[in-house]
Amino acid sequence: MGQNFINDEQIKGILNKVEPTGEKIDRIIEKSLNKKRLNREETALLLQAEREEWLEKIFAAARELKNEIYGDRIVLFAPLYIGNKCINDCKYCGFKSSNQEVERCTLSNQELERQIKALEEQGQKRSIFVYGEHPDYDADFIAETVKTAYQIKDDGELRRININAAPLDVAGYRKLKEVGIGTYQIFQETYQQQTYQQVHPSGPKSDFEWRLTGLDRAMEAGLDDVGIGALFGLYDWKYEVLGLLEHTIHLEETYNVGPHTISFPRLKEATNLEVDDRYLVTDQELKRIVAILRLAVPYTGLILTAREEPKLRQEVMELGVSQIDAGTRIEMAGYTDFKQEQDIKREQFKLGDTRSLNEVIDELVKDGCLPSFCTSCYRLGRTGEHFMEFAKPGFIKKYCTPNALLTFKEYLEDYASQETKEIGERLIQAKVTEINEQQLKEQVVDKLELIADGERDLYF
Ligand code: SAM
Ligand code: SF4
Repeated sequence: MGQNFINDEQIKGILNKVEPTGEKIDRIIEKSLNKKRLNREETALLLQAEREEWLEKIFAAARELKNEIYGDRIVLFAPLYIGNKCINDCKYCGFKSSNQEVERCTLSNQELERQIKALEEQGQKRSIFVYGEHPDYDADFIAETVKTAYQIKDDGELRRININAAPLDVAGYRKLKEVGIGTYQIFQETYQQQTYQQVHPSGPKSDFEWRLTGLDRAMEAGLDDVGIGALFGLYDWKYEVLGLLEHTIHLEETYNVGPHTISFPRLKEATNLEVDDRYLVTDQELKRIVAILRLAVPYTGLILTAREEPKLRQEVMELGVSQIDAGTRIEMAGYTDFKQEQDIKREQFKLGDTRSLNEVIDELVKDGCLPSFCTSCYRLGRTGEHFMEFAKPGFIKKYCTPNALLTFKEYLEDYASQETKEIGERLIQAKVTEINEQQLKEQVVDKLELIADGERDLYF
């Protein structure tokens, strides 16, 4: 069972010790472009590189690596808030227990059904369910909501449901494995323990170690698809990047499999926010975070959320992001009762990108990106250690791109506006011609035709 693997002195020591030079940076970038995970010192060195010319090199290398491994593909999902009752008092969150202004509610089965149908009507196939921490939201409850949601198949279906909730015990995770969740995601918020204790003064979340080892217990339960993250803005961003790397190394060394995804939410305005602004992260720093994470952990998915504004999202995406949410509503029951004016009383924090899924897709396509709703790996059992075996050069081109084409084709057939459909079809044609392997190309063309004829849910 996992123990506290964060050594505060060591992280600070490494950050203080490294001395970047052009030569060292070139060498590290070369290692990264060979798709090797960077070690602590190498990552720290990139973090401490401040000269403009060095930053340009780092950004250029991150773009290259992202393109090389992930291509133009971007996986899309939407979060769904299931309940905002919470017994923790996280100083940065609108759902904290001391916030009397927020309306507390939990989706009933009927409301859950309405939200899922609304997501399906948009064309969503992947969702992450989000829960406050509350005795009502135990593993049985979470499992029940997931089970119910998978059964609702109306105008489409959700094919993969990930979870963002409080850490559970091993038995709890087992229940979730049984109902077939995708990724279990827990953000450590800050890896710096003193800061952690300050911003989590009470409730179960005040136990730093229980949260830090939360994904170890998931692994023990056989849930090997896990996501980590830090809430940037609580403490020094360079420290947090090393914390995320430390977490990755710990999971790799202990379970032979690193995190499936890393998230890097930035602190956003919320009701009664009680954190000092000393550590707020600028747009330029966010870009550095993404570029350095891309180089440090080449094969780990990076998630950029709708907390950020559209223009910045576009710029950050090309530095290494593999997944974004789109068409997102974070107020309770927001997919059916959306108000144009955001209502901070019903939300956890303020959202930066409130565009519809179709609008986001339209922009992605115009930028030459290939939207994907693929859920194939997890449904074929390509997760965890097994998945890592495949996550080698060529895998993404062989499976992910074809699956992106098939799921995007479904979207165009069933949900897209006429304009999006036209530019989307052209993009699909262009991407098909780029497939080098003749046999694969033929298989993709065949499956695209089947989808045009009405078949659904085809994948490699
Ligand atoms: N209650 C669970 C927990 O705390 O892990 C899961 C859900 S919580 C609603 C999801 C994440 O939202 C948190 O882990 C935190 O990183 C993020 N968050 C909270 N307040 C935020 C804010 N003001 N701005 C940006 N992200 C925030
Ligand atoms: Fe509750 Fe999570 Fe918000 Fe903390 S971050 S107050 S645990 S919902």
